[in-house]
Amino acid sequence: MTTSPVCIEVKNVSFSYNGLPVLTNINFSVKEGEYVGIIGPNGGGKTTLLRIILGLLKPTSGEVLIFGQNVQSFKDRFLIGYVPQRTAEAGLHFPATVEEIVRTGRTARVGLLKRFKKEDLAAVQRAMEIADVTDYKNHLIGHLSGGQRQRVFIARALVGDPKILILDEPTTGVDILSQEKFYTFLRNLNHQMGLTVIVVSHDIGIVIDEVSTVLCLNRTLVCQGPPNEFLKDEYVEKLYSKKVKFLIHKH
Ligand code: ADP
Repeated sequence: MTTSPVCIEVKNVSFSYNGLPVLTNINFSVKEGEYVGIIGPNGGGKTTLLRIILGLLKPTSGEVLIFGQNVQSFKDRFLIGYVPQRTAEAGLHFPATVEEIVRTGRTARVGLLKRFKKEDLAAVQRAMEIADVTDYKNHLIGHLSGGQRQRVFIARALVGDPKILILDEPTTGVDILSQEKFYTFLRNLNHQMGLTVIVVSHDIGIVIDEVSTVLCLNRTLVCQGPPNEFLKDEYVEKLYSKKVKFLIHKH
Protein backbone atom coordinates (compact mmCIF):
# COMPACT_ATOMS: atom_id res chain seq x y z
CA MET A 1 0.00 0.00 0.00
CA THR A 2 1.37 3.42 -0.89
CA THR A 3 0.91 6.28 1.54
CA SER A 4 0.04 9.76 0.33
CA PRO A 5 2.52 12.56 0.89
CA VAL A 6 1.94 15.00 3.73
CA CYS A 7 0.70 18.43 2.61
CA ILE A 8 0.24 20.20 5.96
CA GLU A 9 2.35 19.80 9.07
CA VAL A 10 1.47 21.65 12.26
CA LYS A 11 4.44 21.33 14.60
CA ASN A 12 4.29 22.30 18.28
CA VAL A 13 2.14 25.32 17.49
CA SER A 14 1.10 27.60 20.34
CA PHE A 15 -0.64 30.93 19.97
CA SER A 16 -1.61 33.80 22.29
CA TYR A 17 -3.65 36.94 21.62
CA ASN A 18 -1.99 39.76 23.60
CA GLY A 19 -0.40 37.30 26.01
CA LEU A 20 -3.59 35.25 26.48
CA PRO A 21 -2.96 31.63 25.36
CA VAL A 22 -5.53 30.29 22.90
CA LEU A 23 -3.70 27.28 21.44
CA THR A 24 -1.13 25.13 23.23
CA ASN A 25 1.26 22.72 21.62
CA ILE A 26 -0.79 21.61 18.62
CA ASN A 27 0.68 18.77 16.55
CA PHE A 28 -0.84 17.03 13.56
CA SER A 29 -0.30 16.44 9.89
CA VAL A 30 -2.63 16.13 6.93
CA LYS A 31 -1.97 13.88 3.95
CA GLU A 32 -2.89 14.74 0.38
CA GLY A 33 -6.44 13.61 -0.34
CA GLU A 34 -7.44 13.45 3.32
CA TYR A 35 -10.79 14.84 4.51
CA VAL A 36 -10.39 16.40 7.94
CA GLY A 37 -13.14 17.72 10.19
CA ILE A 38 -12.22 20.08 13.02
CA ILE A 39 -14.76 20.19 15.82
CA GLY A 40 -14.85 21.68 19.29
CA PRO A 41 -16.65 24.19 21.47
CA ASN A 42 -16.95 27.89 20.65
CA GLY A 43 -13.80 29.72 21.60
CA GLY A 44 -11.78 26.50 21.36
CA GLY A 45 -9.41 28.08 18.84
CA LYS A 46 -10.64 26.56 15.56
CA THR A 47 -10.68 29.77 13.52
CA THR A 48 -7.36 30.83 15.02
CA LEU A 49 -5.83 27.50 13.98
CA LEU A 50 -7.13 27.89 10.41
CA ARG A 51 -5.71 31.39 10.22
CA ILE A 52 -2.32 30.08 11.37
CA ILE A 53 -2.43 27.31 8.73
CA LEU A 54 -3.23 29.96 6.10
CA GLY A 55 -0.27 32.05 7.24
CA LEU A 56 -2.53 34.96 8.26
CA LEU A 57 -1.41 34.68 11.90
CA LYS A 58 2.10 33.80 13.01
CA PRO A 59 2.29 31.21 15.81
CA THR A 60 3.79 32.42 19.08
CA SER A 61 5.92 29.28 18.93
CA GLY A 62 6.15 26.29 16.60
CA GLU A 63 5.64 26.25 12.85
CA VAL A 64 3.34 25.22 10.01
CA LEU A 65 4.74 23.59 6.89
CA ILE A 66 2.78 23.57 3.64
CA PHE A 67 4.16 21.08 1.14
CA GLY A 68 7.33 21.08 3.26
CA GLN A 69 7.80 24.87 3.31
CA ASN A 70 7.20 27.20 6.22
CA VAL A 71 3.83 28.86 5.55
CA GLN A 72 5.24 32.29 6.37
CA SER A 73 7.51 32.11 3.32
CA PHE A 74 5.24 29.90 1.18
CA LYS A 75 4.79 31.60 -2.19
CA ASP A 76 2.19 29.42 -3.93
CA ARG A 77 -0.70 30.52 -1.75
CA PHE A 78 -3.19 29.81 -4.53
CA LEU A 79 -2.68 26.12 -3.74
CA ILE A 80 -4.91 26.68 -0.71
CA GLY A 81 -8.52 27.69 -1.31
CA TYR A 82 -10.21 29.30 1.68
CA VAL A 83 -13.89 29.80 2.41
CA PRO A 84 -14.21 32.04 5.48
CA GLN A 85 -17.08 32.09 7.97
CA ARG A 86 -20.53 33.44 7.16
CA THR A 87 -20.26 33.50 3.38
CA ALA A 88 -24.02 32.79 3.29
CA GLU A 89 -24.47 36.32 4.63
CA ALA A 90 -21.48 37.84 2.83
CA GLY A 91 -21.69 40.50 0.18
CA LEU A 92 -25.39 41.16 0.67
CA HIS A 93 -24.99 44.85 -0.10
CA PHE A 94 -21.95 44.52 -2.33
CA PRO A 95 -22.60 45.74 -5.90
CA ALA A 96 -20.82 42.84 -7.63
CA THR A 97 -22.02 39.98 -9.79
CA VAL A 98 -21.38 36.31 -9.14
CA GLU A 99 -18.80 36.13 -11.93
CA GLU A 100 -16.97 39.22 -10.64
CA ILE A 101 -16.70 37.70 -7.16
CA VAL A 102 -15.41 34.39 -8.53
CA ARG A 103 -12.78 36.19 -10.64
CA THR A 104 -11.27 37.81 -7.54
CA GLY A 105 -10.30 34.31 -6.36
CA ARG A 106 -7.96 33.94 -9.34
CA THR A 107 -5.86 37.00 -8.49
CA ALA A 108 -3.34 35.10 -6.32
CA ARG A 109 -2.49 32.90 -9.32
CA VAL A 110 -2.61 35.60 -12.03
CA GLY A 111 -1.00 38.42 -10.03
CA LEU A 112 -2.54 41.69 -8.95
CA LEU A 113 -3.47 44.05 -11.85
CA LYS A 114 -2.32 41.50 -14.45
CA ARG A 115 -4.57 40.63 -17.36
CA PHE A 116 -6.55 37.39 -17.32
CA LYS A 117 -5.40 34.96 -20.00
CA LYS A 118 -7.62 32.49 -21.82
CA GLU A 119 -6.82 29.76 -19.26
CA ASP A 120 -7.82 32.07 -16.39
CA LEU A 121 -11.15 32.89 -18.00
CA ALA A 122 -11.71 29.16 -18.58
CA ALA A 123 -10.90 28.49 -14.90
CA VAL A 124 -13.56 31.03 -13.86
CA GLN A 125 -16.19 29.28 -15.99
CA ARG A 126 -15.08 25.84 -14.74
CA ALA A 127 -15.22 26.86 -11.06
CA MET A 128 -18.72 28.31 -11.56
CA GLU A 129 -19.82 25.06 -13.18
CA ILE A 130 -18.37 22.87 -10.42
CA ALA A 131 -20.10 24.97 -7.76
CA ASP A 132 -23.29 25.10 -9.87
CA VAL A 133 -23.63 28.88 -10.01
CA THR A 134 -23.29 29.39 -13.78
CA ASP A 135 -27.03 30.00 -14.21
CA TYR A 136 -26.86 33.21 -12.23
CA LYS A 137 -23.36 34.36 -13.08
CA ASN A 138 -24.64 37.83 -14.04
CA HIS A 139 -26.80 38.26 -10.94
CA LEU A 140 -25.80 40.55 -8.11
CA ILE A 141 -24.53 38.52 -5.16
CA GLY A 142 -27.04 40.28 -2.89
CA HIS A 143 -29.95 38.87 -4.89
CA LEU A 144 -29.11 35.22 -4.16
CA SER A 145 -30.21 32.88 -1.36
CA GLY A 146 -27.81 32.05 1.48
CA GLY A 147 -27.05 28.62 0.00
CA GLN A 148 -26.39 30.06 -3.46
CA ARG A 149 -24.15 32.77 -2.03
CA GLN A 150 -22.18 30.17 -0.14
CA ARG A 151 -21.59 28.23 -3.38
CA VAL A 152 -20.31 31.42 -5.06
CA PHE A 153 -17.61 31.64 -2.40
CA ILE A 154 -16.78 27.97 -2.94
CA ALA A 155 -16.34 28.74 -6.65
CA ARG A 156 -14.13 31.66 -5.64
CA ALA A 157 -12.01 29.29 -3.50
CA LEU A 158 -11.76 26.73 -6.33
CA VAL A 159 -10.91 29.10 -9.18
CA GLY A 160 -7.19 29.16 -8.35
CA ASP A 161 -7.05 25.36 -8.87
CA PRO A 162 -6.07 24.69 -5.25
CA LYS A 163 -4.86 21.36 -3.88
CA ILE A 164 -6.24 22.09 -0.42
CA LEU A 165 -9.66 23.51 0.40
CA ILE A 166 -10.22 24.97 3.89
CA LEU A 167 -13.71 25.92 5.04
CA ASP A 168 -14.70 27.62 8.30
CA GLU A 169 -18.25 26.78 9.45
CA PRO A 170 -19.48 26.66 5.84
CA THR A 171 -23.13 25.79 6.50
CA THR A 172 -23.95 28.49 9.06
CA GLY A 173 -27.08 30.32 7.90
CA VAL A 174 -27.95 27.66 5.32
CA ASP A 175 -31.12 25.53 5.45
CA ILE A 176 -30.89 21.80 6.28
CA LEU A 177 -31.61 20.57 2.76
CA SER A 178 -28.91 22.81 1.31
CA GLN A 179 -26.56 21.64 4.08
CA GLU A 180 -26.94 18.00 3.08
CA LYS A 181 -26.44 18.85 -0.59
CA PHE A 182 -23.43 20.87 0.41
CA TYR A 183 -21.76 17.95 2.20
CA THR A 184 -22.42 15.68 -0.79
CA PHE A 185 -20.73 18.31 -2.93
CA LEU A 186 -17.72 18.46 -0.56
CA ARG A 187 -17.50 14.64 -0.59
CA ASN A 188 -17.34 14.68 -4.38
CA LEU A 189 -14.60 17.31 -4.38
CA ASN A 190 -12.63 15.08 -2.01
CA HIS A 191 -13.38 11.65 -3.52
CA GLN A 192 -13.58 12.47 -7.21
CA MET A 193 -11.26 15.44 -7.61
CA GLY A 194 -8.79 14.32 -4.94
CA LEU A 195 -8.88 17.68 -3.18
CA THR A 196 -7.63 17.72 0.41
CA VAL A 197 -10.49 19.15 2.46
CA ILE A 198 -10.38 20.66 5.95
CA VAL A 199 -13.70 21.74 7.37
CA VAL A 200 -14.50 23.38 10.69
CA SER A 201 -18.07 22.60 11.62
CA HIS A 202 -20.71 22.58 14.29
CA ASP A 203 -22.62 19.85 12.43
CA ILE A 204 -20.77 17.15 14.34
CA GLY A 205 -23.24 14.41 13.40
CA ILE A 206 -22.71 15.09 9.72
CA VAL A 207 -19.00 15.73 9.98
CA ILE A 208 -18.10 12.48 11.73
CA ASP A 209 -20.08 10.61 9.12
CA GLU A 210 -18.29 12.32 6.23
CA VAL A 211 -14.65 12.89 7.12
CA SER A 212 -11.72 10.48 7.27
CA THR A 213 -10.07 12.20 10.24
CA VAL A 214 -11.50 14.17 13.15
CA LEU A 215 -9.53 16.73 15.12
CA CYS A 216 -11.14 17.77 18.40
CA LEU A 217 -9.87 21.13 19.49
CA ASN A 218 -10.36 22.82 22.80
CA ARG A 219 -7.27 24.99 23.15
CA THR A 220 -5.28 21.74 22.85
CA LEU A 221 -5.93 18.78 20.59
CA VAL A 222 -8.21 16.64 22.75
CA CYS A 223 -8.21 13.85 20.18
CA GLN A 224 -7.32 13.11 16.58
CA GLY A 225 -8.07 10.07 14.48
CA PRO A 226 -10.80 8.35 12.48
CA PRO A 227 -14.38 9.26 13.48
CA ASN A 228 -15.19 5.86 15.02
CA GLU A 229 -12.32 6.26 17.50
CA PHE A 230 -13.72 9.61 18.51
CA LEU A 231 -17.17 8.14 19.23
CA LYS A 232 -15.89 4.98 20.90
CA ASP A 233 -13.69 6.66 23.42
CA GLU A 234 -16.23 9.15 24.78
CA TYR A 235 -14.04 12.02 23.75
CA VAL A 236 -17.16 14.05 23.16
CA GLU A 237 -17.80 14.32 26.86
CA LYS A 238 -14.21 15.30 27.45
CA LEU A 239 -14.40 17.86 24.68
CA TYR A 240 -17.68 19.52 25.63
CA SER A 241 -17.71 18.64 29.35
CA LYS A 242 -21.19 17.12 28.89
CA LYS A 243 -22.98 14.28 27.18
CA VAL A 244 -23.98 15.05 23.59
CA LYS A 245 -26.17 12.81 21.46
CA PHE A 246 -25.48 12.57 17.77
CA LEU A 247 -27.70 11.84 14.88
CA ILE A 248 -25.56 9.88 12.46
CA HIS A 249 -26.60 10.44 8.85
CA LYS A 250 -26.29 7.53 6.48
CA HIS A 251 -26.01 8.00 2.76
P1 ADP B 1 -13.45 29.13 17.64
O1 ADP B 1 -13.26 29.33 16.17
O2 ADP B 1 -13.17 27.73 18.08
O3 ADP B 1 -14.79 29.61 18.13
P2 ADP B 1 -11.54 31.31 17.93
O4 ADP B 1 -10.26 30.88 17.31
O5 ADP B 1 -12.43 32.22 17.15
O6 ADP B 1 -12.34 30.00 18.41
O7 ADP B 1 -11.24 32.02 19.32
C1 ADP B 1 -10.44 31.42 20.33
C2 ADP B 1 -10.27 32.40 21.47
O8 ADP B 1 -9.50 33.51 21.04
C3 ADP B 1 -11.59 32.98 22.00
O9 ADP B 1 -11.50 33.10 23.40
C4 ADP B 1 -11.66 34.35 21.35
O10 ADP B 1 -12.36 35.25 22.16
C5 ADP B 1 -10.19 34.73 21.24
N1 ADP B 1 -9.95 35.61 20.09
C6 ADP B 1 -10.27 35.34 18.81
N2 ADP B 1 -9.88 36.35 17.98
C7 ADP B 1 -9.28 37.26 18.78
C8 ADP B 1 -8.64 38.53 18.54
N3 ADP B 1 -8.55 39.03 17.30
N4 ADP B 1 -8.14 39.20 19.60
C9 ADP B 1 -8.21 38.69 20.85
N5 ADP B 1 -8.78 37.50 21.15
C10 ADP B 1 -9.31 36.79 20.13
